Amino acid sequence: ISINNPISVSKVRVIVRVRPFLPHEITSRNGADPVSCISLLDQDSQLRDEVAVYLKDPYTSRNECYQLDSFFDQDDNNVGQIFHTEVNPMIPAIFNGCNATVFAYGATGSGKTYTMQGTEEQPGLMPLAMSTILSICQNTGSTAHISYYEVYMDRCYDLLEVKENEISVLDDKDGQIHLKGLSQVPVNTMSEFQEIFSSGVQRRKTAHTSLNDVSSRSHGVLVISVVSTHPDGNGSPVCGKLNLIDLAGYRPLNWGNGFDLLQATEGCNAFKVDAGNEDNRRSCNEGIRLQESAKINQSLFALSNVIYALNNNKPRIPYRESKLTRILQDSLGGTSRALMVACLNPGEYQESVHTVSLAARSRHI
Ligand code: ADP
Ligand code: MG
Repeated sequence: ISINNPISVSKVRVIVRVRPFLPHEITSRNGADPVSCISLLDQDSQLRDEVAVYLKDPYTSRNECYQLDSFFDQDDNNVGQIFHTEVNPMIPAIFNGCNATVFAYGATGSGKTYTMQGTEEQPGLMPLAMSTILSICQNTGSTAHISYYEVYMDRCYDLLEVKENEISVLDDKDGQIHLKGLSQVPVNTMSEFQEIFSSGVQRRKTAHTSLNDVSSRSHGVLVISVVSTHPDGNGSPVCGKLNLIDLAGYRPLNWGNGFDLLQATEGCNAFKVDAGNEDNRRSCNEGIRLQESAKINQSLFALSNVIYALNNNKPRIPYRESKLTRILQDSLGGTSRALMVACLNPGEYQESVHTVSLAARSRHI
């Protein structure tokens, strides 16, 4: 078996999380245990710095293998494990004024929202990070605020604001990024967090009334910012932030022979919706879907390009290729740390190959 991407040392860690099969996915196969398409090539590799993730289509002989930083197989509590080993170690630096970013990336239904938000019984990375940050705040006298916004069709919308909520992105002369008008809400306890955050989640679902399930077509960004006293005890306070992002699922554009993310991205300007075209609402809707898909794929591809450039010490980091990467300019690279969690559905071979190949490509081409 050949490994598609050779070994590299990555600055942005890229890991895989396989969600468990869901009850209906098990019963629909007459009770026979479904077979996962995804495994480790070599179980011992988990003990090394890198893992070889092996994808195999159970119905054909197709297979692929990619090198990534770590692998979390189907397990009810693999989100807890990811928090413990991957995210928790990123938190202390935030209290020293550094920024960090965690992305969940993958197809629709692969477990991104479950990984980031989780449920009441199984909290996701967002509440787990919040709770850890709040307890450090209590011990150090630091304060925490949250912002929550979405990036949809390259526009940003504040999800903690009831009224007019589009926010503009400005860069100042030092290259710092400002989200003008974005609300920042102080948080002291987990119950405050749950209340504020769930109102934002609700708003994300209902904001665009004409479109169903828009939440999976936008990137949802929770920012936890911390103001702490200077590490040496005097001097001005330092600010750091953690971005926790539920990325939109990439969209197969399904033209010609199958779908190809790179091809789809390049062709993204080909679709312009003619809003005045009254005789075909359906094609207009399809046009919007295609535009959305193209924007999503373009921004995911731009993100992958930025991570690739950072991981491979390129002199120029292409932050300006999309709104998403522009916003994250101060939180990717420099002293910032980042983690990309590639989420996979164990029953889907082709979409898993797409997810893992883009994730692996971010580390090294
Ligand atoms: P996405 O946000 O990528 O579209 P979701 O997070 O909504 O995917 O997950 C798809 C489905 O899988 C949901 O029903 C979710 O509850 C379920 N799921 C994901 N991970 C787990 C898990 N560890 N345990 C139980 N159910 C899970
Ligand atoms: Mg989701």
